[in-house]
Amino acid sequence: MRSISLELKQNKILVSDGGWGTYLYAKGLQMGDCPELWNETHRADVLEIAKSYIEAGADMIETNSFGGSRIKLEQYDLENRTYELNKFAADISREAAGDNRFVLGSVGPTGKFLMTGEVTEEELYESFKVQIEGLRDGGVDAICIETFYDTQEAIQAINAVKENTDLEVITTFTFDKGADGSYNSMMGIKPSQMAETLANAGVDIFGTNCGNGFEGMIDIVKEIRQVNSELPILVHANAGLPIEEDGEIVYPDSPERMAELTPTLIAAGANIIGGCCGTTPEHIRAIKDIVDKL
Ligand SMILES: [Zn+2]
Repeated sequence: MRSISLELKQNKILVSDGGWGTYLYAKGLQMGDCPELWNETHRADVLEIAKSYIEAGADMIETNSFGGSRIKLEQYDLENRTYELNKFAADISREAAGDNRFVLGSVGPTGKFLMTGEVTEEELYESFKVQIEGLRDGGVDAICIETFYDTQEAIQAINAVKENTDLEVITTFTFDKGADGSYNSMMGIKPSQMAETLANAGVDIFGTNCGNGFEGMIDIVKEIRQVNSELPILVHANAGLPIEEDGEIVYPDSPERMAELTPTLIAAGANIIGGCCGTTPEHIRAIKDIVDKL
C-alpha cells in the first residue's frame, strides 16, 4: 500500500498544497459563514480549489475540514452533521487527487482550552473522533492535525486517529518568534521539545504551519533537526508575514520568493513543503518546479 512515509524513505521531497482559508474567502465565503458547510452547498467551488492545487503539481492536498470538529461546528448548530460534512470534504479532495496523489484530512483545534476547564479531554476526543471517522470514510490517506498550540489537545486528536483508523498521522504546530529570536508555541514549548513529545505520542510526520514565512520556518526546521534526524518534517508556511496595505491584509512573499528559499528549507531538513495563509496555486507551482530541479 502507498504511504507518505514510504515515499519519503525513498529520499523524495514531496510538495503539499497551499492555503485554503484565504482561497475560500477569495471565492466568496463571508465572515460568519461555516466553511465546512460549503462542502455541501458550494461543492463545485471547493472542488475547484482542490483541483487547482493538483494541477499546480502538489503531491498531496488537504480537505476543507479545518473547522470540522464537532465542537467547532456547534457554533453553527451543525454539530449533528459533523460526520457527513467531513465525509463530503474528503470525497471532494479524493475526486480531485485521484489515486496517485495523497489526501490529508485537515483537523484544526477546537478553540476551547483544557487549562481553563471549559472542555475535558474526553469531550475533545469525542469531538475529533466523529470528524476523523467522516474523513476516514470519505477516503483520506492521512490526517493532518494542524495549527495546534496545546500539546494535550493535539494528543487527544492523535489518539482519536490512532484508535479509530489505520491512517498516517501528521501534526503541525504554529510557533512564534520571541524577542530573543527563539521560537515557541503559544504555551511556551520549543519546536524541538514538541517534536520529541509528539514522536513519543506516535505521529508519523511532525511539522509547523502558519505564523511564519519560509525564513522563520528554516530556523524552526534547523532547531528540530538538532535533536531529531529521523522524524519527517512537513512545513506549510505563509506567504511571508502579513502586512497592512491600504487597510487590507497582504501576504508579501511572491511565488518566486518562496521558490528561491525552498532549497535552503530542504537543506535544513524539511521533507514535505507547502503553503498556508496567502499562498496560492502559483506559489505551489513555483515550489514544485524548484523541487523537481533539485
Ligand atoms: Zn495559515
